[in-house]
Amino acid sequence: MVIRQEVVLEERLKVTFSYSREKSAKIEQAREILSRKYSGKGVSIEELFLEGIEQILAAEGSKKEKMGTRKERGSKNRRYISPKVKKEVLERDGGCCTYRNKDGSVCGSRWSVEFDHIKPVAVGGVSSVENLRLLCRNHNQLMARDAGLIR
Ligand SMILES: [Zn+2]
Repeated sequence: MVIRQEVVLEERLKVTFSYSREKSAKIEQAREILSRKYSGKGVSIEELFLEGIEQILAAEGSKKEKMGTRKERGSKNRRYISPKVKKEVLERDGGCCTYRNKDGSVCGSRWSVEFDHIKPVAVGGVSSVENLRLLCRNHNQLMARDAGLIR
C-alpha cells in the first residue's frame, strides 16, 4: 500500500489596521468575553476578528432562513390560495365547474370541484380571483392535459 502525502501550504492573508483608544477598550472587553467562551484561554486579535465574521454570517444566515419559512407559508407561494380569494371564487362561480362545452353550455358540475389557475403557476400565473376558476376534477384534468401539463 502506497500512502501519498501531500503538503498543502496554507495561503494566509495579512491584515494590518490601527484603532482608537476608545475602540481599544471595547476590543479588550470583547476579548474577555470570548476568552470565557474559550474556557479562559487567551484570545488573539485574529480569533476575535474571525469570531466577529462568523457571527455576522450566522446572523445573516438565520435572517434568510426566517424569510424562507415566511415564503413557504404565505403570499410568496403562488400556489397558495388565501381563504378570502377562495370564498370570492366559490361565490362568483356558484360552487360549480365553469368548463364551457363546445356547444357553449357550461358543465356546472358540483362534484369534486377544484380551483384551477387559468394561467398556470408554472408559467407565472398567480392565485388571484381573476386568475382562478372552478373546474370539476374531470375538466381540470382535461384542461391540464390540453395545456400539456400532464399526460
Ligand atoms: Zn366540469
